[in-house]
Amino acid sequence: MYEKAIIYGSVYIDGEFVSKHIYIQEGKIAKISEKLYEAEEVIDAQNLEVLPGIIDPHVHFELNLGHVISVDDFYTGSVAAVYGGVTTIIDFLDPVDHQSEIENAYEKRLDLAKKSVCDYSFHATIKKPRGNLKEFVQKIKQLGMPTLKFFTTYSDSGRRTYDEQIIELMKLSESENITLLGHIESDELIRLDDSFLARDLPLSRPAISETIEALKLAEFLRSYGGKLYMVHLSSGRTLEALTGTYKALLNKSLFIESCPQYFSFTKDILNEDNGYLYTFAPPLRSANEQALLFKYSKYIDTIGTDHCAFNREHKNKKLLKDIPLGIGGVEHSFNIMRHHLGDDVIDKMTKRVAEIHGIRNKGELKEGYDADLFLYEPMKAYKISDNHAQSDYSVYEQHPIDGKVVSTMIRGEFVMRDRKFLGGKGQWLRRRLADD
Ligand SMILES: [Zn+2]
Repeated sequence: MYEKAIIYGSVYIDGEFVSKHIYIQEGKIAKISEKLYEAEEVIDAQNLEVLPGIIDPHVHFELNLGHVISVDDFYTGSVAAVYGGVTTIIDFLDPVDHQSEIENAYEKRLDLAKKSVCDYSFHATIKKPRGNLKEFVQKIKQLGMPTLKFFTTYSDSGRRTYDEQIIELMKLSESENITLLGHIESDELIRLDDSFLARDLPLSRPAISETIEALKLAEFLRSYGGKLYMVHLSSGRTLEALTGTYKALLNKSLFIESCPQYFSFTKDILNEDNGYLYTFAPPLRSANEQALLFKYSKYIDTIGTDHCAFNREHKNKKLLKDIPLGIGGVEHSFNIMRHHLGDDVIDKMTKRVAEIHGIRNKGELKEGYDADLFLYEPMKAYKISDNHAQSDYSVYEQHPIDGKVVSTMIRGEFVMRDRKFLGGKGQWLRRRLADD
């Protein structure tokens, strides 16, 4: 007798939907079968899809920008997440420039994240390094975080890592087996003009600044080895250019993450009266750039949201320099991306995320794996109408979608069931890359 059974659902396994029953025991998927067995609790999933829990590899909860803190903390952000079928999130440690500061950054973030109702982990973040890079890399691995984010820009706030050290990090990525996460925009091509308005954001951070920097880093990678994961790719031209010379690296050692916002809107929306609500970095691009993003979407490994939400009052400022950049999205990302890319997006939000970021026993519906899953009801002509995050607006309000997340389960327990939040307690995940 199993503890729980989810029966008659259309279950997503190995890239297709099959009619199977899932049996759960002690938080794990104990059996997947066409046969019916007894269970203490039986969940009827007829007419529903059963999907592996979404892993959002890129969120910023409770991000302190100095003058303002992003409005979703680990509790409200993770509650919104489970309404969207998300069962694991990866946030970021505050950037540090020396290996001696990593542990402190980790403890601080861990303390904030304890409120999370879904499982969580962190990427380490480095800024303008001044210490020993090898020790830095070894330290984060030892703490269970084999992914390190650096910035090629933000020299104005002292966060930029320069080329020589990026090359050194790539060599260490190869020798120590970690994955580098790059915020990739050419610092030289970014213009920060105090008189810029919200609509000037694409002028301030042009698409070419991403394309040029991505090509340079891909060449570093080709020459020095290692693994590089490009966060929040915004420009379709960047992807098209990478499929030229660097096709052999793509999806093997050069990984691409993009976000729902770049598929959903173009920069034209920044010209509207409420354009300030759509401000984030990298910014929205032209319709042509977006068309290329769709065209080359098969090369996109993962979808992350870059969730970093603010309220209208924070965003409603005349000058761009006064607007905190970032939007929410963790709750709606699966719905939005399923609408845009269909079933192709499922692996990009589950299995691929787990593989690339070294999350073990999650990301697939498989015997022995954690019972992280959600039930999804396909619907016709449906729209996003509710929002559980803390922010007082969502850019995805009324966005067309193809169904709804009905219930979400983490390690065998429903955290949200029939659109009602039941509560839960997330666990911190120690990560380890393949071959480690
Ligand atoms: Zn981010």
